Amino acid sequence: MPSPLYGVFDYRWNVGAPPLPGTRVRVPFGRRQVQGVLTATIDRSDVPPSRLRSVTAVLDAGPVLPPELFTLLSWASRYYHHPIGEVLAGALPVALRRGAAAELTTRESWSLDPSVARVPIGAGAEDRAGENGTEGGGEGEDDGKHGTGEGSTVVATGVRRAESLAAELAPRAPLQRALLQRLFEAEGEPVDTTSLAGVSARWRTSMRTLLERGLVVREESRRVPENRATAEGPDLLEEQARAVEAITGALGRFRPFLLNGVTGSGKTEVYLRSIRETRERGLQTLVLVPEISLTPQLMRRFEARLDGCLVTLHSGLNDTERLQNWLLAAEGHADVVIGTRSAVLVPLPRLGLVVVDEEHDGSLKQQDGFRYHARDLALMRARHHDCPVVLGTATPSLETLQNVVRGRYAELPLVRRAGAAEPPTLALLDIRRRALIEGMSDRLLEAIARHLEEGGQAMVFVNRRGFAPTLLCNDCGAAADCDRCDAHMTVHARQDRLRCHHCGAERVVPRVCERCGSERLDRVGHGTERIADALEAAFPNVRVARIDRDSTRRKGALERQLDLATSGEARLLVGTQMLAKGHHFPKLTLVGILDADRGLFGTDFRSLEHMGQLIVQVAGRAGREARRGTVLIQTRNPDNAMLTTLVNEGYPAFAAAVLEERRDAALPPFSFVALLRSEAPDAASGLAFLDAVAARLASDTRGTMHVMGPAPAPMERLGGRYRAQLFLQSDSRATLNDRLLELTRNIDRLAGARRVRWSIDVDPVDLY
Ligand code: ADP
Ligand code: ZN
Ligand code: ZN
Repeated sequence: MPSPLYGVFDYRWNVGAPPLPGTRVRVPFGRRQVQGVLTATIDRSDVPPSRLRSVTAVLDAGPVLPPELFTLLSWASRYYHHPIGEVLAGALPVALRRGAAAELTTRESWSLDPSVARVPIGAGAEDRAGENGTEGGGEGEDDGKHGTGEGSTVVATGVRRAESLAAELAPRAPLQRALLQRLFEAEGEPVDTTSLAGVSARWRTSMRTLLERGLVVREESRRVPENRATAEGPDLLEEQARAVEAITGALGRFRPFLLNGVTGSGKTEVYLRSIRETRERGLQTLVLVPEISLTPQLMRRFEARLDGCLVTLHSGLNDTERLQNWLLAAEGHADVVIGTRSAVLVPLPRLGLVVVDEEHDGSLKQQDGFRYHARDLALMRARHHDCPVVLGTATPSLETLQNVVRGRYAELPLVRRAGAAEPPTLALLDIRRRALIEGMSDRLLEAIARHLEEGGQAMVFVNRRGFAPTLLCNDCGAAADCDRCDAHMTVHARQDRLRCHHCGAERVVPRVCERCGSERLDRVGHGTERIADALEAAFPNVRVARIDRDSTRRKGALERQLDLATSGEARLLVGTQMLAKGHHFPKLTLVGILDADRGLFGTDFRSLEHMGQLIVQVAGRAGREARRGTVLIQTRNPDNAMLTTLVNEGYPAFAAAVLEERRDAALPPFSFVALLRSEAPDAASGLAFLDAVAARLASDTRGTMHVMGPAPAPMERLGGRYRAQLFLQSDSRATLNDRLLELTRNIDRLAGARRVRWSIDVDPVDLY
């Protein structure tokens, strides 16, 4: 399985009952031995008996992927048309894929054998022996004689034991005495190995002797962390209470909810209460969040408020930590599992509630390999476990809204902000024909000055990192481009590097034009670095915090920057969409959004939806406490109907308008789409292959499906490879699915299939 199996292979099982599906096995594969997961047992194979090889070994006592999850993964493999081998591999933590034992690490600890009296042992102990002896002795054999007061005598309740101990240990075995003393001091609590190593580096040999004599006991216990809540939390507002009641009232049944709450309305509070109730019923909660590492505040809040075993699953963990947390979840120890998208594939035997926070967030969709949508799988899991699932957001995806309209999801609205906070006011700033200072209009800069003067904090949102997105020659017009992508290189002035944000290529910023040699190079456009510089120049006495992927790369850097922002020490914030995600900056009163127009003319049918969500999420950072927030959106399209709807009527009206556009265009959620992508070293092979695919699809006439393309991808060349795509659309999920299934059975035989890498993306969120 290190190189995941594309197909399913048959092996012989020789004696006894075969293992259950979901169990890891070792099998011969070619000349190697590989690890695989048993998918099914069958009575008869199409492989001739002479060529059927036998399973070498079974690696697990029972399935590592329990039946419920195995069924879900099999379904997902068919739904996303992705090979079952990769789907199963993707569901296992890396350590299990590499053959590690599916066992929680244990903590080794030692204590006195209960038959040994809890009295001082060893030299100098005689003073205390009298007092403690009788007290501790009660726990052992109660009629034992306590030998006390004899210098270095070891004391036990059993007569024989006391005598032999006294004789054998003292004074020839000082280390054994010291160890017994250490265990005695622990007053019955098991003592761990670290603490014993503190007694002596050579403690193990002596301890083994004590163990053989039956004086001590060794225990192995699983490491199950136990969290203790430190805070109660506020009284719920009426809307929150109603939401919690609806959710907890549905425990034990499959019921999807949309928790549709404006930013700061107390959605997290609703999760916390529902989780608490779920745990009190002895059930597990799965919480999916977009990116835990970006929201350390959220994790701290969960810890402050929930009792029990909380575990996280995200990319910040190493393989060992990940395996441990996965096993805590899978063995049912974890009460709450908080994770990013792949956590939706973790076994949860007592699952009682699923929460998908920020359900609109694009990071819930895996963009390569097994391209699943964690929100959609979360719904399937909840269905399998007969439990409620809560999709929470201030800006629901259009799919989810449409499911509410169709009556499939129950909507739980939170229309007011919790506490005293008022919703922010949004306004468009027309920047046509206005002189801009480093991308910012004078009106925005004036507003920033005013808010700073009044003691507020201001944030400028610009969704590009680096200094400038383009380096342009003033003489010949050439831009510094990536050699491997159809993209300009971004200028990173701090490191004096040009970087391609698509493939990661970099080079030193050239001093002269790479085409004509001119020195007149312009850095065109504005990234976060440039805006931060401009704000520092305009407001010299104010501290500026820049938050983007570059400024937060080093460990701990994000936390430091967020602390600066939260405490208000940095009164000016500049950042990318990293700033949009769930943060709570109490002093923030003004948000400026620089480049809203990009979303209006995106190539993707979801661009507009995403722009609206981003603006509302960024805006939601403003005015979360006593002072009302203002949001200024710079635009060259102040009359754009979508923008004005968003600003004047809010997200629900905006979303309704975008939904109408989708309905007119028969795009999701009013139809079902998939992309067939190809990638090849030249432009022609991919297109030729997709032509063959299109022809094959056209020969299948079941139901109605539209095939558009093939066409080069919006960015055709990426990392030196040429990409093309075929867009499939149907009114019927079943038709789309059937046709794709037929296609995948034959695709490898199509002309050119060997020259390209192809992939299928069902329900794509990005059409890049
Ligand atoms: P959301 O998740 O919707 O953005 P939060 O749950 O983070 O909202 O709540 C926003 C703020 O309001 C937080 O500071 C939170 O502590 C506070 N809050 C939430 N619910 C209440 C309540 N019932 N009473 C008082 N304050 C609340
Ligand atoms: Zn030039
Ligand atoms: Zn590149």
